[in-house]
Amino acid sequence: MDLFEHQAKELFARHGVAVPRGRVAWSPEEAEAVAAELGGTVVVKAQVQVGGRGKAGGIKLARDPAAARVNAEQIIGMDIKGHVVRRVLVEEASDIAAEYYVSILHDRAGKGFLAMASAEGGVEIEEVAARDPGAIVRVPVNPLIGLRPYHINQLVFGAGFAPEARKGAAEILTHLYDVFTAADCMLVEVNPLVLTAGGQVKALDGKVSLDDSALFRHPDLAELRDSFAADPQEQAAKEKSLNYIKLDGWVGIVGNGAGLVMSTLDVVAQAGGKAANFLDLGGGASADSMAAGLEVILSDPKVRSVLVNIFGGITRGDLVAQGILDALERLGDQVRVPLVVRLDGTNAEEGRELLAKSSSDKVVTAATMLEAAAKAVELAGRAAEGANN
Ligand code: GDP
Ligand code: MN
Repeated sequence: MDLFEHQAKELFARHGVAVPRGRVAWSPEEAEAVAAELGGTVVVKAQVQVGGRGKAGGIKLARDPAAARVNAEQIIGMDIKGHVVRRVLVEEASDIAAEYYVSILHDRAGKGFLAMASAEGGVEIEEVAARDPGAIVRVPVNPLIGLRPYHINQLVFGAGFAPEARKGAAEILTHLYDVFTAADCMLVEVNPLVLTAGGQVKALDGKVSLDDSALFRHPDLAELRDSFAADPQEQAAKEKSLNYIKLDGWVGIVGNGAGLVMSTLDVVAQAGGKAANFLDLGGGASADSMAAGLEVILSDPKVRSVLVNIFGGITRGDLVAQGILDALERLGDQVRVPLVVRLDGTNAEEGRELLAKSSSDKVVTAATMLEAAAKAVELAGRAAEGANN
């Protein structure tokens, strides 16, 4: 889970990392109020989880609260690389003398942590790595030893930070390491870390990726997830504990087992279609999870047909079929598109019989995965033609 900049900075501040004073705002009015509270020149920053916001016009300086309001009006609603801005961070503007880069991350190859620093901050680090790899200092850190002063010296001197930035940068690195370990992060990155004209060193931007597997240890951070403006289908899927990922096609997919679902996506592509989602019901594939899954998929207006691909192992085909029928009954008129069902494995025959007996005109069965995909794509095409007429 990635944090928004304002959340990353809140976490930084809790651990003593110097950040500009500021607060998130959800409306131009709120941005104006925060700017008035802060006083002086502020910067209004789009909160989206993608880099290059500055270049996209998502970061603007404002000399007074009225200007902050106008900036927020322009930035909120803006689309930055496919991410719509819903909130802005309003913070005191900094007078920048130098921009640096620092990060701490997991180094899988090195089986430890890796700390990095560069005097070429403010631009995407991948760009620096491509242009001048020598400009980035990499220091492996043994997790059992932790980030020690000698590591920090290697980073700060190695990258060539200005003498007046060294002490502040060293303090920030120490506190960043606390954040990294205390919050079970996969990555903490500050780009840029700035030296101000007044000689202060601050984290001007912040990126934090948390380890999802460790979120249970951090209920306060897990809560932040709720503040993410999730897609409505993904939100509903999450509430039902489904393994669902929205994609941008029009053939809904339900399967049991990640491998089977992945190959179903491939087969749909081979048949000339495009999957609307990935949904793995898992080994259990109960009637309840089937109903919940179909409900989520059918609530996506882009879906024009659904392909249910179940291989019965522990999961019994007749129970899956019953699950589909229950779901259809429960959903009623919400089922506006055809469902192509391919059942194989344990009790598949009984399952197909159940489906054949059903009174629903929406269910179509198919014997093989390829045939099922072809049918789902064909029916989706017809649904589209119908919509156009
Ligand atoms: P990103 O481009 O999305 O990573 O956004 P950043 O937060 O890193 O900001 C991009 C750039 O905007 C920085 O490298 C700065 O040059 C500029 N910037 C951000 N905040 C301020 C500020 O308070 N004052 C000034 N002068 N420039 C800023
Ligand atoms: Mn940045």
